[in-house]
Amino acid sequence: NEKVFQPAFEVIEKIEQAGGEAYIVGGAVRDYISGRPIGDIDIATSEKPGRIQEIFDKVIPVGIEHGTVIVRHQSISYEVTTYRIEEGYEDFRHPDEVTFVKDINQDLARRDFTMNAMAMDRHGNIVDPYEGKKAIEKQLIIAVGDPVIRFQEDPLRMMRAARFSSQMNFNIDLGTLEAMNEQAHLLENISIERIAEETVKLFSGRGFDNGIKALVQTGLVNHLPLMNQVELQPNAPKVPLHSWPEIIVYGIRIGIDTTIGNWARQWKLSNKVKKEAEHLFYAFSQFTTNKEVSNLLVYRLPFPLFEAFDRLLQAAGVYEGSLVEVMKNKHEKLPIFSKKDIAFQAKDLIQMYPATPKGPWIAKAIDEIEQAILDNRLPNDYEKIKEWVEKWNPPESNS
Ligand code: ATP
Ligand code: MG
Repeated sequence: NEKVFQPAFEVIEKIEQAGGEAYIVGGAVRDYISGRPIGDIDIATSEKPGRIQEIFDKVIPVGIEHGTVIVRHQSISYEVTTYRIEEGYEDFRHPDEVTFVKDINQDLARRDFTMNAMAMDRHGNIVDPYEGKKAIEKQLIIAVGDPVIRFQEDPLRMMRAARFSSQMNFNIDLGTLEAMNEQAHLLENISIERIAEETVKLFSGRGFDNGIKALVQTGLVNHLPLMNQVELQPNAPKVPLHSWPEIIVYGIRIGIDTTIGNWARQWKLSNKVKKEAEHLFYAFSQFTTNKEVSNLLVYRLPFPLFEAFDRLLQAAGVYEGSLVEVMKNKHEKLPIFSKKDIAFQAKDLIQMYPATPKGPWIAKAIDEIEQAILDNRLPNDYEKIKEWVEKWNPPESNS
């Protein structure tokens, strides 16, 4: 694990050689201390963005006004942010003012939870003014400073607490939990997009039941669109859900009485999420009706959604174990993968019935052929399909 920090240590060393100081901060230190896989590595520094731009060749200015640039080193991106404090949260969203400061300890004080408020120098020494290490040992999420004030500054932190309790499988410290209880309503001031980001992370964590418990216990759930329609705890999924389409279909399954479109509208989710939820919903209904993976199911369900569908079945307790292999096998053996693969096309139908004006009957006929091929009632063969079509009544142009 120390090896993953090596290139970041080199970035720090370069800043030090230029007379500044720098540390690895935030999630990477937390994950290192708790033995979890390390994601993005963020660096905090005493130097202003302009200075960082001078020190390194490859710098992308992503948020200069907040003190953040991206430094590329050995093909890895590092977010390098100047030590800062944030003052005034009038609109609950963004600090009114960002002030650059000289001391790492001041920077750590603005961070949300003690486990996220540690820094590591390039020799591996940990700066830990809030006993974040101890909190990790005790598996507790504890706000830095007065939790009431910290949640007033930025109410999204309450969702982050619940999300981390899921991801880390930690409990929330009593004082922090009580502050959440008191101020859950402040979540109304936070944009739904930011809440949605935390929510999906919460549902995908290994301790998702901890996260859900936190939402319910604190009343945060009452400020999440649609989620308060059913009792979330007794209806909790049996396995984590990794994406919004899964969450939507699961929600409908446990009785949240609304449409996919309404989920997408109220949570401001993308069209892609909506489409994928529709696919999952269709497949889910197919499976619960037929109690098996049909040809039609694997034909209609886009291949990249197989894993999501599998999780959904397990989460809902509809099927135990994984069906992904079964689905992949079925998919491989499909007689056709799309309408394009049908050996008999619209032009062939028109040729067969030159006297019949073109109309909706063509698409309908193709649908029936498609269905018959997928049901293994009809081989995908030009002559066989033609014979099969000949047995039909001659088409009516207006049908
Ligand atoms: P993840 O693994 O999900 O990225 P993370 O801890 O890195 O977890 P980020 O959202 O990437 O979370 O934030 C990086 C760091 O910035 C956090 O560890 C924390 O120190 C600080 N931070 C992020 N958001 C807030 C916030 N709303 N209030 C206070 N500090 C925050
Ligand atoms: Mg991060």
